[in-house]
Amino acid sequence: MSELPGGIPPATEPVPRNSASGVELQATDDGGWRVLLGLRSRKSRFMPGHLAFPGGVMDAQDRPDESGAWARCASREMQEETGLEIPVDAWHEAGERVTPALFPIRFRTRFFVTVLERPGPADHLEPATDENERLEFHLPALVLEDWTGGRVKLPPPVLPLLRALVATGGGALEEVAAILREANALEERSARMEFAPGVWAHPMKTATLPPATHTNVWMPGGRRFVVIDPGTADESEVGRLLAVVQRRRDLGDAVAAVLLTHHHRDHISGACVVARRLGCPILAHPQVLEVLAGSTSEIETRPLNDGDEIDLEGVTLRAIHTPGHAPGHLAFQLLESRLLVAGDLLSGVSTILIDPRQGDMDAYLASLERANALDCRLLFPGHGPALPGRQLGRLIEHRARREAAIRDRLESNPTPLAEIARAAYAEETRMPAVLTEAQTLAHLIRLERHGVARRADAHGEFWSGLSRAGSEDGRLDSRSTPGQIEAILRRRFSPSQFELRDDSAKHAGHAGATSGGGHYHLVLVSAEFEGHTRVEQHRMVYDALADLIPDKIHALGLTTRTLSE
Ligand SMILES: [Zn+2]
Repeated sequence: MSELPGGIPPATEPVPRNSASGVELQATDDGGWRVLLGLRSRKSRFMPGHLAFPGGVMDAQDRPDESGAWARCASREMQEETGLEIPVDAWHEAGERVTPALFPIRFRTRFFVTVLERPGPADHLEPATDENERLEFHLPALVLEDWTGGRVKLPPPVLPLLRALVATGGGALEEVAAILREANALEERSARMEFAPGVWAHPMKTATLPPATHTNVWMPGGRRFVVIDPGTADESEVGRLLAVVQRRRDLGDAVAAVLLTHHHRDHISGACVVARRLGCPILAHPQVLEVLAGSTSEIETRPLNDGDEIDLEGVTLRAIHTPGHAPGHLAFQLLESRLLVAGDLLSGVSTILIDPRQGDMDAYLASLERANALDCRLLFPGHGPALPGRQLGRLIEHRARREAAIRDRLESNPTPLAEIARAAYAEETRMPAVLTEAQTLAHLIRLERHGVARRADAHGEFWSGLSRAGSEDGRLDSRSTPGQIEAILRRRFSPSQFELRDDSAKHAGHAGATSGGGHYHLVLVSAEFEGHTRVEQHRMVYDALADLIPDKIHALGLTTRTLSE
């Protein structure tokens, strides 16, 4: 995301909704605890596929204005999700957490702990709602082991409570509740928020593009760690970040450097003050260091180029040049763990703006493809929570659809940019016109370069389409949309010579279908093929298309039909 352009008011943080979570314990034979965790549905909006305590948002039945509402909420949620009837007075208060501001949905959650009388239920409970795919009692130490090994996902607030449960060993319920309260209080003061082992996160309040309100500072590493994108110099914000850094230092890890993904103000504004306070160098792409020049006195700066690696004692970080959103943009790959600090390649809360004044849609799409090819498990964006690696592929598809919508709006007569943007972004009612127009312009400039669009005036306020393509070939692959394939085909055939059908559904599971799901059926209708056998016709079509659709022609189902048929 860029810094805030003029005329756009900053977003306000989402107001946390009151909720309660129940920590349901069961004593083990050796005096320890097992704890009930639900595997959240993969279709869930919040934390899909994560292991979490049962719980949810307070509602009218909990009588929110009367005392005891939080505990009533915990009992009701537990009953709804698991079928377990926990009397309200069986709960012990275990502290409160507020979802950090990097999440688009936030909760003020009170935790309650209780212990099931033995003999308790079996290891498994039948989920009573589709909120959970499984409900199981787990040994906290084993869950933490699985998390360290990347086998399970845990929401950041669950992690410190599991660590605290391991630390208690056993003990009376009152003591356990006190230890959980303590753990929650420490997190509220200075959170050790880990989306993956060794990757700490801290959101800083910055002047950024709505709906984001914060920029994430990612701190990946082993015995040494880096501080990526401290995005504000505000004294209290810097103080909060440094408290988290200190908490990690207290565990014995050392700060190696401040790293920057790109030069936008909401990513670099705190770089100098933080580097100075930590006594460490700033590492960034030469184009980013240029922007900082003049404010880095007494700070060592070092250029980072594509492929450069940093040894963080247990973790190797590799710089990946990913320009497009901004020149000199770097993403940072964690080589051993298939993780990627993605900067503004993508966002967990909205779309990334490619501003044509300094961004480049062609470069951006190439960067997305490049990052996607790294096959990372988790992505850590500049704004919003961590995202699954497959999000990059989805984003590439989303961009292709958007570009197809823009191209579809192009006619032989010039059309105003504003009108093209309105049509292409019709469903994005919350995006200001200044942003949708900038984004549309970035796509049109790319289409112009590829010989598909032409500007009708010097300022690019009017655009028309070109029926014949220019010299540069588009590239297609199995993820290409029918619109993209069609644009390529139009360079070789006239619209009356072919029909293109999306056969993805029909070919689902078929050996010939591509993993991306895109399976199209091309029917060529041309007199050119009369008098040839069907095999010859196919050969001719393949030959004609091979240079247009390099090595991906198998993604197309092909038949030919002569006009006489
Ligand atoms: Zn940015």
